[in-house]
Amino acid sequence: MHHDPGHDCSHLKEALADYLDGDLDTELCRELHAHLKDCHPCRVVVDSTRQTIRFFSQERPVQLPPEVQRRLQETLKTRILPPEEP
Ligand SMILES: [Zn+2]
Repeated sequence: MHHDPGHDCSHLKEALADYLDGDLDTELCRELHAHLKDCHPCRVVVDSTRQTIRFFSQERPVQLPPEVQRRLQETLKTRILPPEEP
């Protein structure tokens, strides 16, 4: 299995947020899907966040409440750590 230190999860953090927001470019979306295939940590984030969104969607079909968006960002920040400095 690949364990690449140059893995660009941090670069995909914003893409993930947009993706979960349903607001992602087709191009970036494809890139993200490819990444999710190989990156378990990112997939876990997407899955758990999706469940949260689905829960809220039952009340509000489109807009995520600001509080949820903030917590989503927090989650992405803590779950996907930026590459370590040498
Ligand atoms: Zn990743």
